[in-house]
Amino acid sequence: MKVPLQITKQEILTFYKLINPLTHKGIQGHAVIIGGSYGKMGAAVLASGACLKSGCGLVTAFIPKSGYAILQISNPEVMVLTDENENFISGINLKIQPQAIGIGPGLGQEKQTQQAFLEFLNTNKSPLVVDADALNILSLNKAWLSLLPENTILTPHPKELERLIGKWGSETEKFENTIAFSEHYKAIIVMKGAPTFIINQSKIYQNTTGNAALATAGSGDVLTGIITSFLAQGYSPDHAARLGVFIHGLTADIALPETGYQSFIASDIIKNLGKAFL
Ligand code: AMP
Ligand code: MG
Repeated sequence: MKVPLQITKQEILTFYKLINPLTHKGIQGHAVIIGGSYGKMGAAVLASGACLKSGCGLVTAFIPKSGYAILQISNPEVMVLTDENENFISGINLKIQPQAIGIGPGLGQEKQTQQAFLEFLNTNKSPLVVDADALNILSLNKAWLSLLPENTILTPHPKELERLIGKWGSETEKFENTIAFSEHYKAIIVMKGAPTFIINQSKIYQNTTGNAALATAGSGDVLTGIITSFLAQGYSPDHAARLGVFIHGLTADIALPETGYQSFIASDIIKNLGKAFL
């Protein structure tokens, strides 16, 4: 296997964009987070909150109806569009074409949600980040993978990766199969773990930030929001994925002396984004 390029601060600073003092929210990018279902609405709260706290100008969450008050009260700065269905997503009608869409956190795998995802893939024109149950739906319907736009970012944890590419016998085989998958579908695979690797066809990156404090519920949902935000701000998918995993891990490195491993939770990632950017 090729030696992975290390994702370090020095590497990140070669493409990190400073904020233009004359910018306004209309040109900082509009991101949409699609997810949430009854009992998992927090995933959409975390992803959309992280998205907003990572620099994009506008964030809309598309969620089932029963999540409306939950989302608006948790994240008053996020705009909300609701599905007709109370408890899960049954048809994705955005009426806008945002600069980036993150789909999957808390989505669930109801039959109607799967159908809604298929219709969405057939009509969507925005760059995509696909996570969690949206990945699981693709694993159940592998033919739909060919509908993903080029350079879609997929963010599987190890179990989600296994469902997507099948079981591997060794670490080497895991990388070989992920590279083959990335090349076949022209997709960028964020192989989440300790550490996280990013496979972009023949390019392999290894993240250098993060620690075991990130092994907590909602941690990946926050990452989806962060990467979607960078994509909406005009970073290339390759850069958005690298900057996203780097900043996500850095929040945990910064917070660790205050929280320890045990009491760090996913909302602490969002709380520490400011320090990570500084
Ligand atoms: P998820 O399983 O989707 O919630 O994603 C978990 C996130 O936390 C990923 O970004 C992982 O890379 C990260 N993570 C989990 N456990 C560790 C660990 N022991 N060290 C570093 N990062 C971790
Ligand atoms: Mg996850």
